[in-house]
Amino acid sequence: MIKKNKIAIVGAGFVGSSAAFALMSKGTAREIVLIDVNEQRAQGEAMDLAHGLPYAGHMVIRSGHYEDAADAGLIIITAGASQKPGQTRLDLIKTNAKIMTGIVQEIVKVGFEGMLLIVSNPVDVLTHVALKVSGYPKSRVFGSGTVLDTARLKYLLSKKLAVDTRNIHAVILGEHGDSELCPWSFANISGVPIEDFEETRGIHDHEALHEEIIDDVRNSAYAIIERKGATYYGIAFSIARIVECILKNEHTMLPISVELEGEYGFEGLALSVPAILGEEGVETVLEVPLSAKEKREIKSSASALKEVISQLEI
Ligand code: NAD
Repeated sequence: MIKKNKIAIVGAGFVGSSAAFALMSKGTAREIVLIDVNEQRAQGEAMDLAHGLPYAGHMVIRSGHYEDAADAGLIIITAGASQKPGQTRLDLIKTNAKIMTGIVQEIVKVGFEGMLLIVSNPVDVLTHVALKVSGYPKSRVFGSGTVLDTARLKYLLSKKLAVDTRNIHAVILGEHGDSELCPWSFANISGVPIEDFEETRGIHDHEALHEEIIDDVRNSAYAIIERKGATYYGIAFSIARIVECILKNEHTMLPISVELEGEYGFEGLALSVPAILGEEGVETVLEVPLSAKEKREIKSSASALKEVISQLEI
């Protein structure tokens, strides 16, 4: 029987162990199992994290194997090679697609019936790979998509506009990567159209500000990797937020990567679009109105991903 509050994390590197740390801090899960091809690493991370439990709250955290994940409600996959300085996310595709295929085959083998949350990059392509290899319904296989990029967008906007991040309703859509876009036409600050709000802050060149912000969002990962070699805290909290939506059955709208079947005019690929997430996984994919420019941008995002997928043997 599925234990909804049991979570397995495959890949106990920077992202996987930071995600476990963020999940522990939030206290939403009851059990976390860390799995890694490097067993010692998974054991060490689990031991280190477990020593924080007396001050974090009651739960179980341990390392294990795929059999230990068979009854989990959710498996988060963060295994793979990480982005090197100057390397685009799409360059990593072939290596990580192979790693993803092997992992998902192991998961299927143990009879897992829960959901898969894909985080490894390129996340949209690997979400599509995981869906195809697993044969699970698309409601149960999704990627962290642009949840992190949206957090970056909200953070940057909140600094520019001097407003609480929680008042900002805006999303990044498309590929989690260089071709992602922000549909500014429906961005607002607690219901106030974003451009009207910008005027109250003395900002009149809206287009210039939006260009600056989206460039910063797109370059955030590169900027961090250049300085410290990897990014993991932002994604860890993004993962914890996604998990919270599932475990608390929040029916929250998040820009996660989901397989499209005609939505936005695309099919045969996973892309970040607004979707409603709850305890059964992806409930609804929302089609938000896009301007002509935004439609062109999301089309170029989709074409870039389709091109990569066409080069894979799945
Ligand atoms: P890392 O090198 O620290 O960790 C990767 C871990 O995966 C390692 O411990 C490695 O032993 C393990 N691993 C490799 N192959 C495996 C296999 N077949 N089975 C089980 N474990 C295996 O890397 P990281 O910094 O933690 O990044 C992990 C992934 O997350 C990368 O693909 C990175 O690009 C991605 N990432 C995604 C986002 C996002 O927003 N989606 C953000 C940051 C990083």
